[in-house]
Amino acid sequence: MEPPLLEVKDLTVQFHLRRGTLRAVENLSFFVREGETLGIVGETGCGKSVTALSILRLLPSPPCEVVKGEIIFETEDLLKKGEAEMQKIRGRKISMIFQEPMTSLNPSLTIGEQIAECFRVHLGCSKREARARTEQILNTVHIPSPKALMDRYPHEFSGGMRQRVMIAIALACEPKLLVADEPTTALDVTIQGQILDLLDELRGKMNIALVFISHNLGVVAQLCNRIGVMYAGSFVEMGDKESLFTRPLHPYTTGLLKAIPLPHRRNEPLAAIRGSVCDLMNPPRGCKFHPRCHKAAEICRVTPPVLEPNSSVVQAACHFAGE
Ligand code: SF4
Repeated sequence: MEPPLLEVKDLTVQFHLRRGTLRAVENLSFFVREGETLGIVGETGCGKSVTALSILRLLPSPPCEVVKGEIIFETEDLLKKGEAEMQKIRGRKISMIFQEPMTSLNPSLTIGEQIAECFRVHLGCSKREARARTEQILNTVHIPSPKALMDRYPHEFSGGMRQRVMIAIALACEPKLLVADEPTTALDVTIQGQILDLLDELRGKMNIALVFISHNLGVVAQLCNRIGVMYAGSFVEMGDKESLFTRPLHPYTTGLLKAIPLPHRRNEPLAAIRGSVCDLMNPPRGCKFHPRCHKAAEICRVTPPVLEPNSSVVQAACHFAGE
């Protein structure tokens, strides 16, 4: 079997802050194959975005430090690459879409100028060629009248249109891997659906591997075949969508599934997971989820459960998985 396009091995990332050291990601391992979609889901503050930014080496150092691990992309460790090499990879081979397009786009440049820059910097296109390609990619992301709209500024676009522009920038150079960090969270539900459909359509057409990050398990399920559930910096469950939705093994996954609002449960109060994510500067001993877990036993307070990496079946880091 072909090696995965991306393989993250035992990644541990910490932040050195005035208050102390915060371990945002701990012993994280996962892989993504060519053309595959992997969903990463979890509450705010569980390490999803730190994972995404680590892949592209976009975390500021200091205060951030990659303590250990490897990020193997096309058989090379990105953590060993210099900044000049990373600049060639970002946008060309690995792209990222962020949550809020307005803060990612430059308000003083037209949409067209910002997209054309990708073609000029990464593919060495002339001005005229970059403009033609810009029109083409705007068409691909279903922006109406691209020729006229490419000379407009970001503030003249709606939130959904701006996110389409961000997708156009991300996919301009046909990367092999796209990391989408909560790309629909800032949008209303109908536009969210359109953006998810667009991402799925283009991913399929271009055979791009997608790492889709969200706090919403329902949204992740629309796009991804395999899903990893993160809690307090680590995966607590990883597996294929069907198994995860029908037979969740980890109490945290079960809690997230019960919290999805569904039409047939509209008269019932939404189930909530009690408590909040632990303080990562001072996490509890044993299983980090134990203060919130209704199944917690003595072993959970002492011994941290582990998740076996790189398994094709569903795995859960729980002493009582599936019981
Ligand atoms: Fe709950 Fe124990 Fe499993 Fe942690 S290891 S999720 S505390 S049952």
